[in-house]
Amino acid sequence: MQFRDLKKQYRMLKEDIDSAMLNVVEASNFISGQQVNELEKELAEYVGVKHCITCGNGTDALSMMMMAWNIKEGDAVFVPDFTFFASAEIVAFEGATPVFYDVDMDTFNADVESLEKAILAVKKEGKLVPKAIIAVDLFGQPSDYDRLEEIAKKYDLLLLEDGAQGFGGQIGTRRACSFGDAATTSFFPAKPLGCYGDGGAIFTNDDQIAEYLKSIRVHGKGSFKYDNVRIGWNSRLDTIQAAILLVKLKAFKEFELKAVNNFADNYTVLLKDIVKTPVVAENMYSSWAQYTIQLASKEERNGLQDYLKEQGIPSMVYYPKAMHEQIAFSGNKKYVECPNTKRLCDIVLALPIHPYMENEYIKVSEAIKEYLSSH
Ligand SMILES: *Cc1c(COP(=O)(O)O)cnc(C)c1O
Repeated sequence: MQFRDLKKQYRMLKEDIDSAMLNVVEASNFISGQQVNELEKELAEYVGVKHCITCGNGTDALSMMMMAWNIKEGDAVFVPDFTFFASAEIVAFEGATPVFYDVDMDTFNADVESLEKAILAVKKEGKLVPKAIIAVDLFGQPSDYDRLEEIAKKYDLLLLEDGAQGFGGQIGTRRACSFGDAATTSFFPAKPLGCYGDGGAIFTNDDQIAEYLKSIRVHGKGSFKYDNVRIGWNSRLDTIQAAILLVKLKAFKEFELKAVNNFADNYTVLLKDIVKTPVVAENMYSSWAQYTIQLASKEERNGLQDYLKEQGIPSMVYYPKAMHEQIAFSGNKKYVECPNTKRLCDIVLALPIHPYMENEYIKVSEAIKEYLSSH
C-alpha cells in the first residue's frame, strides 16, 4: 500500500504528462517558457487573486515574502508551534524572531486566543517589533482567516497564509491561497497539487509586491535580465514543471479534489466511533494533504503505527516535535505555552490518503479497529 500513490496518478495521466514534458524538451524552452505564464494565469484565476508568481519551492516563496515585507532583525513574526520547519525557518533566516503560538486541538490550525496572547506578550516586553503573522493551512484545511484578519487589523500586522498544504481548500466560496495580505504554496510532489520536483508560488492582489517578487526571483532584474536594480536571487519554476502542473491542475479541478474528499468522508464514517477523527470546521473545505487521527496516548499511537507497519500499511507522524522544541530554536524565548502542540506531537497519526485510492481505506480502518480492540 502506498501512503500517497504518485505512481498510480502518473499511470492515469501518463499520456498528457508525457506529451507535455516532451513538448518542453522539443521546444527546449527550459527556463521561463510560455507554460510558466499560462500556469500563473490559471492558478491566479482558480484561487481568485490578481497575481500568481511561481518560484523554485514553497520555502523560497515564504522567504521572498519576508524580503518583500522587509522583515529583519528586531522584528517578531508569529508562527504556529505545530507546523513544518520551513514556516519558522524563513523568519529566522532573515534575522527576525519567530514567536510561536499554539494551535487548536480539532483543526490543528491557529488558536487565535494563543496568538493574541503572544502578540500582547511581545508588545509588553517591548524588545521586538511585531510585524507579521504567519498562519498555516495544516493538512489541507484553511486556518480561521475571518478571525485572523481581524487580529492582524487590530494590531496592525501583516498576514501571510502558508498554503503549502492548503491549495484547493475553501472557506465558503473563497479559495485557499487568497487570504491575508499574501499567500504561498508548494508544489513538492506529495502536496495536494504537486509537480515532479520542487516548485512553489506566491499569490497577492498587490501590484507593487508582485513586481518586486518578479524582480527578486531573477537576480533583482529591472527592465531586462542584465539590468539589476536590487539584490535578489535565482528562484524560478522550471518550464517542465509548469507543463506538468498544467496537466495536473486540470485533473485536480475535475476530479482529484472531489475524490480525496470522498475518501476522507469514508474514513470518518468507519473511524469516528473508535478514534478522534479530523474535524472540518463549519463552512470549511479541506484538500486533505493529510488525514490525521488522534490516539489516546503516545504509547497507543506508537503501538498502532508499529502494528499497521506489520500489516503493510504505511503511516506518518506529522509532526513529532514542536517548533519550540527544535534544537535550531533552542535559544528562542517562549512567549506563550503551547500545550496543545505538545500533546498533538505525541498522539497524531496520518493515514494513507490520495485521490487514486480504491478500497484501501477499509483495510486501514479494520486494522485500526483490530489493534484498538485488543489493546
Ligand atoms: C512543504 C511545506 C513548506 C515548504 O515547501 P517546499 O516546497 O518543500 O519548500 C512550507 N510550509 C509548509 C506548511 C509545508 O508543508
